[in-house]
Amino acid sequence: MTNNGKIIHLLAFERGIRVKSTGIVRKVDDLGRIVLPRELRKVLDISERDSLEIFVDGSYIMLQKYEPSCIFCGEAENVSVHKGKNICANCLAELKNKP
Ligand SMILES: [Zn+2]
Repeated sequence: MTNNGKIIHLLAFERGIRVKSTGIVRKVDDLGRIVLPRELRKVLDISERDSLEIFVDGSYIMLQKYEPSCIFCGEAENVSVHKGKNICANCLAELKNKP
């Protein structure tokens, strides 16, 4: 690991992100696309047509499988949209039962 790599690793560690180089280099095509390696998709459970959320930190681009979650508790199961916000069935029931 280079010095620069060590610094990146430390910064990511402070933020709870564990950065690991895959050693894979891919070219961006004429339309700005890159192909995610099959092995990586398999490990991260990314299927065709799945959505990925894009995060940026300086010159770094991070991708994460997009799974809408409840804004109150973070639950990803049984999530619906209410007034443009994601809410799970449990939190929705809680709100409905408030006097
Ligand atoms: Zn919830």
